[in-house]
Amino acid sequence: MNVDFELQAPDDLAGALDMLAQGGAGVALLAGGTNLIVDMRAGRHRPEGVIALERVQELRGIDCNGARISVGGRTTVTDLLHSPGIAAAAPSLVDAARCFAGQMVRNAATVAGNIACGSPAADLVPPLMSLDATVTLASKAGERSVPLDQYFLGYKQDARRRDELISRISWPRLPARFHNVFYKLARRRGDAITVTGVAVTLCVANGVCDKARIALGAVAPTVVRAKKAEALLTGMRLTPAVIDAAARQAVEECSPIDDIRASAEYRRHAVEVLTRRLVSQAWERLTHTQG
Ligand SMILES: Cc1cc2nc3c(=O)[nH]c(=O)nc-3n(C[C@H](O)[C@H](O)[C@H](O)COP(=O)(O)OP(=O)(O)OC[C@H]3O[C@@H](n4cnc5c(N)ncnc54)[C@H](O)[C@@H]3O)c2cc1C
Repeated sequence: MNVDFELQAPDDLAGALDMLAQGGAGVALLAGGTNLIVDMRAGRHRPEGVIALERVQELRGIDCNGARISVGGRTTVTDLLHSPGIAAAAPSLVDAARCFAGQMVRNAATVAGNIACGSPAADLVPPLMSLDATVTLASKAGERSVPLDQYFLGYKQDARRRDELISRISWPRLPARFHNVFYKLARRRGDAITVTGVAVTLCVANGVCDKARIALGAVAPTVVRAKKAEALLTGMRLTPAVIDAAARQAVEECSPIDDIRASAEYRRHAVEVLTRRLVSQAWERLTHTQG
């Protein structure tokens, strides 16, 4: 591990943004450290300076009271798991938090760190994408927001400038009747990298699917939305034939690779099976409980 770096620990957001503005290309932000420290130890990342965000309280917290649900960048996976507001407004995030690593990593790992690591297998990203989340980037110049489904520019490439940090992630509150779920397919339930992750959000109004979101993890260079599959569902009564067509379309919208965990063919099959299953369950639940 390269120990020759300058460590700074600002007390607040203004201090962090000052340091980031002065820092230049060689500076890395440190949140929970569950990616960064591992990468530094392995020599994959050798920053000249590290800005530790541990004391920056403004970046941590969950607000479920308004029209938009808002989660601070330094909010941990454990915070999500224990939030009644998140359980009610975004159950897919709880699904993801529950199968995320083990307890110690969950206590440290943050939402912003998960997004910023840029991995297509980052487990919080498909749920957030299925919720139409927006990433808020803060710098000394102010804030700007980028829809999460436009945030990733390629494998481990994103829209963040070097003088910016992810301050929060937010999304519009879903209508009263929605279903929102994430399924992680991996070799084990905990502490395993995702082979295929599928998040689905479905809303029903007047007996038809009013809104559909399908986000796919670990099957393309970035997490992706299956927008054409979503379009096949929107405005429709979801018969098995309609759901089948959408599940097959979702496969067309991913581009998985073979790796040590699974073949591309297996991942494509998983996308079809999981999309069909999650959409069917969502539709059944929403229409079964309709008054
Ligand atoms: C044993 C183990 C198991 C794991 N299991 C899982 C798993 O099941 N699912 C999963 O998705 N991941 C898993 N991970 C990966 C990791 O825990 C997550 O990606 C985690 O969310 C990273 O968050 P962090 O706060 O630790 O980020 P850090 O390691 O502190 O930082 C990661 C990257 O994000 C940047 N960053 C941090 N905060 C900000 C910010 N506010 N704005 C901009 N950039 C920022 C850092 O500079 C760095 O580039 C695992 C890791 C380990 C070691």
